[in-house]
Amino acid sequence: PVVTRFAPSPTGFLHIGGARTALFNWLFARHHGGTYLLRIEDTDRARSTEPAIAAILDGLDWLGLMPDEPPVYQFARAERHAEVAHAMLESGHAYRCYATAEELAELRETQRAAKQPMRYDGRWRDRDPSDAPADAPFVIRLKAPREGESVIEDVVQGRVVVQNAELDDMILLRSDGTPTYMLAVVVDDHDMGVTHVIRGDDHLNNAFRQLGIIRAMGWDMPTYAHIPLIHGSDGAKLSKRHGALGVDAYRDDMGMLPEAVINYLLRLGWGHGDEEIISRDRAVELFDLTGVGRSPSRFDIKKLENLNGHYLREADDARLATLVAPRVAALMQRAPLGSEDVDLLSRAMPSLKPRAKTLEEIADGARFLFEHRPLHFDEKAQSLLDAAALALLTKSVDALSVLNEWTLEATEQAIRSVAENADLGLGKVAQPLRAALTGRTTSPGIFDVLFLLGKDETLGRLSDAIM
Ligand code: GLU
Repeated sequence: PVVTRFAPSPTGFLHIGGARTALFNWLFARHHGGTYLLRIEDTDRARSTEPAIAAILDGLDWLGLMPDEPPVYQFARAERHAEVAHAMLESGHAYRCYATAEELAELRETQRAAKQPMRYDGRWRDRDPSDAPADAPFVIRLKAPREGESVIEDVVQGRVVVQNAELDDMILLRSDGTPTYMLAVVVDDHDMGVTHVIRGDDHLNNAFRQLGIIRAMGWDMPTYAHIPLIHGSDGAKLSKRHGALGVDAYRDDMGMLPEAVINYLLRLGWGHGDEEIISRDRAVELFDLTGVGRSPSRFDIKKLENLNGHYLREADDARLATLVAPRVAALMQRAPLGSEDVDLLSRAMPSLKPRAKTLEEIADGARFLFEHRPLHFDEKAQSLLDAAALALLTKSVDALSVLNEWTLEATEQAIRSVAENADLGLGKVAQPLRAALTGRTTSPGIFDVLFLLGKDETLGRLSDAIM
């Protein structure tokens, strides 16, 4: 049975690359009816923080990528890691190294001067530990093979070969008894029963070092899939400059829907023909590691926005209204919207969302619904309201105020007749109407605006503008 894991280091928020790794692990497990696990790699005590852990869990939860079992915390397993290091010592696959910090610094200096790769030289590999002064501190190092080569048949990278002579005897347990990251990863993956290691290709080199421990312990080697990192649209390493932020920023600041982010992440490095819009269910059905390309994918915020626009149009309007309501309140610096206002938002959604790319844009477009009279006009709207426009507004008030029924059809007919009588196109009347009713020059269709505002509010706003 397939077991995958996402293993973030909680040193910052859940970034877009991490979220994609989590998604691929989740999808692979789902596709194969397996289990998807989460391991918080918090062994770096100085850099791991509680808020980072909370942000990672929060981001995964929002994306629907929570693990099938409670998360494993790596630091809490330090004793188990040490136990494995000692087992390797016992079996002769590891040894005590008593080299002092000064000695090692000297070694590095000599290697640097000789332009040799900086590598531990194995000076305690075959030496008798009793040579060391009593009670001298030591580290435990892996006794790595020095001849031959190590091979990884990576599902994404293909066959990768490293000469064993290039790998040194790495430290497993530090002199204070704490495990190194390399040891912890291998022990945890083994104990968690991980069958497939899917992670960024910045870890490919580590895989060869980790393999040394796996072999020494006689454990099964997992299947590796090292996926290319994400680059910015200009091909450079992804950074904030490219619009790549923590997952929380896509949710909170921009107002993206999780299904849009998931669809976007899926397409970032994985493809199925030309299909752009792929639902979660369909992704589970189709996903496999063979569809993951070898070249870095490029992050494109425009594509993400377009996908989000698509999912906004598909989304249930009542759901959108609940998501947009707090944004409207924040934008307008007012108290939370009551249930009637949320209902109004929901009814307005079909007119608000067609052009929007984010929840934030929808919220901004919805402001006119909740504005209090008299409206504030922005500069462009103000400039539209000249004498001729005001005359048209007066005629509109006349035509609208006599209506018994406030329907899209009735209001449209009334405004059309105003335009016809003035020998003008409909747009020429719609523009000042929009300015007077919304304070802006862009809004949903003008008849939707009339309808959503209702008769009293419409006539009130028009009278304000005319005065
Ligand atoms: N903790 C590592 C990282 O955040 C991932 C290690 C792994 O997946 O093996 O980059």
